[in-house]
Parts: sequence; C-alpha cells; structure tokens
Amino acid sequence: MERLLDRERARYAELHPRSASAYANAKNLFGRTPMTWMAKQAGGFPLYLASARGARVTDLDGHTYIDLCLGDTGAMAGHSPAPVVEAVQKRFKDLGGATAMLPTEDAAWVGEELTRRFGLPQWSLALTATDANRWAIRLARAITGRPKILVNSYCYHGSVDESLIVVGPDGTPQIREGNVGAPVDTRVTSRVAEYNDPHRLAQELEHGDVAAVLMEPALTNIGIVLPEPGYLEKVRELTRAHGTLLINDETHTFSAGPGGCTRAWSLDPDIVTIGKAIGGGVPVGAYGLSQEVSERIEARTDLDLIDMGGVGGTLAGNALSVAATRATLEHVLTDEAMAGMTALGTYLAEGTRQAIATMPWSVAQVGARAEYRFANPAPRTGGESHAAENPALDDYLHVYAANRGILLTPFHNMALVCPETTQEDIDAHLEVLEAAVKELEQDG
Ligand code: PMP
Repeated sequence: MERLLDRERARYAELHPRSASAYANAKNLFGRTPMTWMAKQAGGFPLYLASARGARVTDLDGHTYIDLCLGDTGAMAGHSPAPVVEAVQKRFKDLGGATAMLPTEDAAWVGEELTRRFGLPQWSLALTATDANRWAIRLARAITGRPKILVNSYCYHGSVDESLIVVGPDGTPQIREGNVGAPVDTRVTSRVAEYNDPHRLAQELEHGDVAAVLMEPALTNIGIVLPEPGYLEKVRELTRAHGTLLINDETHTFSAGPGGCTRAWSLDPDIVTIGKAIGGGVPVGAYGLSQEVSERIEARTDLDLIDMGGVGGTLAGNALSVAATRATLEHVLTDEAMAGMTALGTYLAEGTRQAIATMPWSVAQVGARAEYRFANPAPRTGGESHAAENPALDDYLHVYAANRGILLTPFHNMALVCPETTQEDIDAHLEVLEAAVKELEQDG
C-alpha cells in the first residue's frame, strides 16, 4: 500500500502545481493554512478552492470534483444554493445590515421552523455548533446545580473542553490524547461512557453529579457508530431517572432528515444543538430548549443572560446568518429535498457495500451520509471504532479519489449527499472506490 500511496501522491503533486505553490507561499499563515485543520491533507498539501456550486468544487488548477465532503457538512445544502445567495445579497447589499445587534423578523421564522422540525419550543442562536454546545452546557449546569457533563468516548462536539475525554484501554477515564492546553484535567469536569453501553452510563449517572449527557444520537466523528436496539430509549430513561438533562447534538446527524435523528427516531431530548448545514454555508449555530428547561432557566433571575454571564456572543443571531438560515430551511433543505437525499444516501451505502465486499470492512448510514470503516462487524462503540483506524489506508483512499475527481472529507471515509448530488455522481464515486480497492487487493 505504501508504494501505491507514493504513486498517488506523486500524481497528486503533478496534477496540482498551483495549489502546491499557493500553499508554499502562504508563509504568514500558521501551518501555511488559515485554520490548522486544513493542514490535514492526504496529498501533502491542500487543494486550493477556486469556486464551488451545488455538488461541485473547482480547484486552483482547474480540476472540478464531485464534492462528497461538502465542507464536512457545512455545505450539506450544496455550495452557494441560489435561494441562500439571493437572501444574503438582499440582506447585505439591498437592505444593508449584516450585524446590528438588532433582531430581524427572519429570526422568529427560523425559531418556528426549528420547532416544527425538532419539536423543542424555544430556540437561541450561535455562530457555530461548538458555541451552541458550550452555551447549552452552561445552562444545563446552571439549572441542575451539578458540575459534570457526560460524553461518549471518542465523541466530537467541537472544541468543547468537557468533551475531550475517553475511556482508556484499562476502562478508566483518560484525557483525550492531544488535548491542547486543557484548563483542568478533563476528569474534573466530565464523565465518560462508551456509546451503546447503558450499563456504564447508569454507573456514571449514579454519582448524581452529572448536569447533562451531551451526545450525538449516532456517533459520526469516529466513523459512524449506530445505536443498538433499545440503547437510545435506555439513555433517555436513565437520564430522566437521575435528573440529568439530555442534549442531542444534531450537527452531523441532521443528515437523517428534516428534524435530524430527534425526529426520525422519535427521540425526546431536553436540548438539541446544531450548526454547520442550517446556514447554507454561512456560519450559524443554534440550540433548542424544552419548555421545562426554558422555564427553569427563566426562573433563575440571578443568571446574567443579557451581558457577560457566559452565554451568547456579539455576532450570534446576526441578520445575515439568520437570513441565510431561513433561506436554507425554507427553500433548500426542505422535507422533500431531504427525503431525496436520504434515498440517494441509501443508494450510496448499498453501492459502497458492494464496492468493498471483498474487504473486511463495514458500512453505516445516517440518511444522506454513509461511511465505511476498516472493521467487520461494524464497531459498536467509539473505542472499537478508534481501534479500527488506519491513517495510511485513509490517505491512500483519499488521494486516489482526489486524483480521479472525487472529494471526500479529509477525516475518515465519510461521504455526504446534498440536494444537487446525482445518482451519476454516486456511481462515479463507487467506480473509483472499487478501482482503489482492486489495486489494493492486487498489490496487497
Ligand atoms: N458537533 C458535532 C457533532 C460536530 O461534528 C462538529 C464538527 N465536526 C461540531 C459540533 C462543531 O462544529 P463547529 O466546528 O462548526 O463549531
């Protein structure tokens, strides 16, 4: 495989001289990228974006890709969908006023629509999913009077301090490897249980100090790990029994449908957090509160929600983000469009199963999103999925795909469908995947 990877990297360098030189010239960017994650590129340097529309991205060297990365979900509505472009132009250019610290009527529409989709009656806006999670956690602590947050091992909820904890090989909680400048040992602020392990969850909640369980209904950031039958019901039962709030982070699982997994699987969380896709490419985040939670917060008149108490942000709820979110939800990621995306996601998952049939790998799907993992049977927990990681194999598959016009998320092997993705796009991806696997078999 190393030989194949070298061959693909050489081809990548040959195909992308302008991206390579733009990267080399970005001397005053830390890590030569505007954000450190962009340095993670299987080819050795990132492709530079020239333009993007719908399910297509074109790089600086003039190559156009079928984009199955979609900005790691930020562009799940497709790149620059026309209704969002129009709404942004109207707000920013025609009417004027991107950020005035004043509400617009679009915001009430967005709140009502998020309520229709997710069922929670009270919404507040942020600029990122990370912040939505941070603020939800603070509110949960405030009203429960409890100090800790429980997360699943190998979860991802943004750069949320409390979430950087895993179940170590010996079964005890450990600070997640690579945790940058943790303010305190994460074990002080957090508890952790493996996903699909209600027994451990029950043990951890027994301590009576957990304000909230913050979780994705299905893990999507360590491959996709799906819930076993009865697991999510058990989580709800246990959290209720222990007076712990349940926060569903739907930032990625929004791919399950118009109301994410919360609606698709009839879940009943106390708080939902979301970000990325709902802005159609413009930064936005949001959290929704149950009636009970919102009343408990309101009853706490000692909490400073108006200024510097620790929740909210200057540009959160700004008119531009809100206009983009309204346009995305009203015209782009509609119920109908998302039903079509899920149908195509199923086609993608089934095709992927066939393409990798000869490998000891597995495929998991959450609506418009499908992913293969280097383990079969499919991992049941974050820990098992972590153990199935193979960075060199990831790199090979990613560069192989990029060299043949397919863009995948730089992290693991996730492929996502947007409203403009076609069956032909999926077929093209599957053909490339099959070829990559065949070469691997021949050489391996
Ligand atoms: N929650 C989940 C489930 C995510 O996958 C991510 C990002 N991958 C986030 C939160 C954080 O999103 P952002 O980086 O936009 O704040």
